[in-house]
Amino acid sequence: MRRLHVHVLVMSYVDPCSGASARLSEEGPCDMAGIPDFHGPHVEPPLPGHITLTWYDPTPRPPRIRVISHTCECRDTTYELCAAAGQGFVRRTDREKQTVRETAWTLTATARRIFHQILHGEAR
Ligand SMILES: [Zn+2]
Repeated sequence: MRRLHVHVLVMSYVDPCSGASARLSEEGPCDMAGIPDFHGPHVEPPLPGHITLTWYDPTPRPPRIRVISHTCECRDTTYELCAAAGQGFVRRTDREKQTVRETAWTLTATARRIFHQILHGEAR
């Protein structure tokens, strides 16, 4: 159970923005420092040889979608780990291009793994 506890801590993440909030006003990498709810982990740059994910247009008329986890809103591209109808997928929102794409719907555990691979630059 101790191991599980550690895992949960990693999943909930130490907010990289609030952690650096004392310097945010000077450096300004993140303009939402006052709204911790919007903060999530920052995605790392893709690694050489990373997995190339297939991104699809959003599912039309989706059932109610629950966002389990999301990356930091201060970046132009955000990724959300979503669950709906007993399945999971990752949604990518590019605010600059104004596009929304999602991975194939799969097992929740698989979607969770994909989300973490994206965070660590292992998939994109
Ligand atoms: Zn941020």
